[in-house]
Amino acid sequence: TDSDTADEAVRATCDDATICKRFATSKGYWKDPYIQYFTRSVGERKAPEINRGYYARVQGVNHLLDAFIRKAECDCQVINFGAGLDTTFWRLKDENLLPRKFFEVDFPTVVARKIHNIKTKPPLSKPIIETHSTDSLLLDAHSLDSDRYCIIGADLRDISNLDEKLKKFQLNSELPTLLLSECVLVYMTPSQSSNLVHWAAETFHTAMFINYEQKERFLKTGWEHADALDMMTIYSMLPQDDVARIERLEFLDEKELLQQLLQHYSICWATKDKLNLGNAQICF
Ligand code: SAM
Repeated sequence: TDSDTADEAVRATCDDATICKRFATSKGYWKDPYIQYFTRSVGERKAPEINRGYYARVQGVNHLLDAFIRKAECDCQVINFGAGLDTTFWRLKDENLLPRKFFEVDFPTVVARKIHNIKTKPPLSKPIIETHSTDSLLLDAHSLDSDRYCIIGADLRDISNLDEKLKKFQLNSELPTLLLSECVLVYMTPSQSSNLVHWAAETFHTAMFINYEQKERFLKTGWEHADALDMMTIYSMLPQDDVARIERLEFLDEKELLQQLLQHYSICWATKDKLNLGNAQICF
C-alpha cells in the first residue's frame, strides 16, 4: 500500500543519519568508535555545512542528555524514540554515564538490522554482556533485553502497544526519565507526535524530553517547563575552544549558508521535576 511505501522511506532515513555522522567523525568533528559497525563505508564527501550541522546536533543533544543523567547521578532511565542505528548506549558506557536502563524503540525491521550488527560485532556485544548479571539475556531477531540496554521493535504511532512493550521490559515510571527524539516526530502527523509527547508527560513525574527537529514542530502538552533554541544559537553556545577546533578542519567561505541552514533547526527540551533534581535549570 501507499502507507507501507511511505513507512519504508521513513525507515531508510536512519541510514542517512548514520552515514552523515560517520563521515563527520571520519573528518574528526567528534569521536565515535562504534558508528563504523553500523555502516559499511565512510560514504561520499559531505559539504562542510552539513558536517558542522551534524556536529552541532550531536554535541547539543549530548550536552542536555549528559546534564540530565548527571543530575540524576545515573539513577534514571533513557528512552530513545526512533533511535535508528544510534550509538549513544556505547558512548555512555565508555564515559561511565550509563543510566540504570537505556531503552530504544524503532520499527521492527530497523531493530532487526541493529540487533544483527550487535550479534555479529564483538565490540558492540561485549559491553552489553559485561553489564548484564544473569544468564537471561534476551536476544532474538526483533528485541534485545539485557540489564542495562533494551531495544524494542514498535510503531511509535500506536501508543497503547508502545506502553505495553516498554512495561514488559521493566520500564519504571517512578524513575527520573530522559526521553529523546532526534529527527523522528517530523515523520508523524501533529496529532500522532502530540500523543507521544503527551503520553510521556502523563507517565513520568520527573522527566525531560529532548526533541531535535525543524523549528516549527515542537509541542509542549502537559510539560511544566519548555525551552527551544535554534541550532545557530546552540552552535554559538557550545564550548568555543572545541568549535574553534572543528572550524579549522574544513574551510568554509560562505558563513551565511551555515547560518541559514542551522537557523531552520532547533533543539527543544521540556521538563517535569517532582523529585526536584533541578531539571528546569538544565540549559546551555
Ligand atoms: N534518531 C536517529 C538519529 O538521529 O540518528 C535516527 C533518525 S532517522 C532520521 C528517523 C528514525 O525514526 C528512523 O530510524 C525511523 O525508522 C524512526 N521512526 C520514524 N517513525 C517511526 C515510527 N512511527 N515508529 C518507530 N520508529 C519510527
